[in-house]
Amino acid sequence: MTTQAPKQTSYDVVIVGGAMLGSSVAWFLSDNPDFDGSVLVVERDTTYAACSTVHTNSCMRQQFSTEVNIKMSQFAADFVKNFREYMGNDERVPQPVLQSYGYMYMADTHEFVSTLKDTQQVQARLGAGTKHMSPDDIARDYPFYNLDGILGANHNLKDEGYFDGNTLFDWWKRVAGERGVEYVNNTVTGMGLNTAGNRVETVTLASGEVISCDTVVNASGPRASLTSEMAGIHLPIEPRKRYTFIFAAERPLDRDLPLTIDPSGVHMRTDGTYYLAGCPPDDDPAVDHDDYIEDHSIWQDKVWPAIANRIPQFEAIKLINSWAGHYAYNTLDQNAVLGPHPDVTNFVFVNGFSGHGFQQSPAVGRGTAEMIAHGEYRTLDLSLFHYERVTQNNPIIEKAVI
Ligand SMILES: Cc1cc2nc3c(=O)[nH]c(=O)nc-3n(C[C@H](O)[C@H](O)[C@H](O)COP(=O)(O)OP(=O)(O)OC[C@H]3O[C@@H](n4cnc5c(N)ncnc54)[C@H](O)[C@@H]3O)c2cc1C
Repeated sequence: MTTQAPKQTSYDVVIVGGAMLGSSVAWFLSDNPDFDGSVLVVERDTTYAACSTVHTNSCMRQQFSTEVNIKMSQFAADFVKNFREYMGNDERVPQPVLQSYGYMYMADTHEFVSTLKDTQQVQARLGAGTKHMSPDDIARDYPFYNLDGILGANHNLKDEGYFDGNTLFDWWKRVAGERGVEYVNNTVTGMGLNTAGNRVETVTLASGEVISCDTVVNASGPRASLTSEMAGIHLPIEPRKRYTFIFAAERPLDRDLPLTIDPSGVHMRTDGTYYLAGCPPDDDPAVDHDDYIEDHSIWQDKVWPAIANRIPQFEAIKLINSWAGHYAYNTLDQNAVLGPHPDVTNFVFVNGFSGHGFQQSPAVGRGTAEMIAHGEYRTLDLSLFHYERVTQNNPIIEKAVI
């Protein structure tokens, strides 16, 4: 694909990466009445063939243990449910679906039951609909499960399940463009800092242009650490493979399958008339940025047996589709890294979302635009996720990670 040169040589904000998070920041900036600066989004592959965004499972949950993570997903649910209103009542904008069949976090140890009960309290305090269920409760509502070894589960039918995140992505990109945000197909290959080393002054593009900027936003997904290295910043983020399998059941269930997180590490859920399953590999190394090779032994040896064990009706299933995608895996704590760098102060992170960046994109786009426009968060305080915890080796202990 041919690279495109930007129209200007200087922008107020340059966003490196134009997928879900880059486009979220771009749209929220374009929607912020106190920001009227110029925005350039540099995207190395505008077909988006190999980014996390195209490989996502696009689910949201309020079942986190960290309050801000819960609040971010609650904003996501509100944003999806009122999408057209948030998009300025633009009549072209469709209503994305939000299918709230919930996540079903299953426990097979007393210790995990106790963790689930604690997190249920945190979630309920913030208004989430999470309920702790005994095996009898689960059997009553979802009689298709084999509950051997299951001691309890948490489940939430309010604003939790699949949402059509791609519609958000499409419309953020389209409307941001209509409002003057410039997207170019190009790659950021370097950055120039001032002599004090505390500001990025320029970004260099693969096509040779050197573009001045007031703020640079790192929205480069699993490549985030490559981008931050251009400014001399270390980020503990690496690409890790996650596998998704779509299957058809010869005897489908008579109700939605909640996004069930089996103690084996395999998760499964309804996906239209099909079902979706996924899992991390047992051996989970960093992989090459371009390595999307699938491993079908994972389906054969891990996923299928786990599915058939938990739902005996799924003995007879047929694999329809599958893919491998990359998490931007934050090795410190699998949580986002956000906000400006403490020393290189105009370098802003929207990175490291691991498996929950789709649902966090509305809150992160809004908060990052506030930080750029006002120098502070005005709605939800996201400072817990700032870079300082990386240098202090101070991980956020989020108990609910997938
Ligand atoms: C299998 C799988 C399932 C998932 N399921 C869920 C889920 O159910 N719910 C959820 O909330 N999240 C989920 N996620 C996570 C979610 O998809 C990601 O967090 C989100 O898509 C990240 O978006 P992003 O824009 O940060 O990164 P990406 O989508 O990877 O985009 C980064 C972009 O930056 C560009 N780029 C990189 N370097 C440069 C450069 N130097 N110059 C120019 N451009 C550059 C890339 O080309 C890319 O388009 C899942 C992820 C995977 C892989």
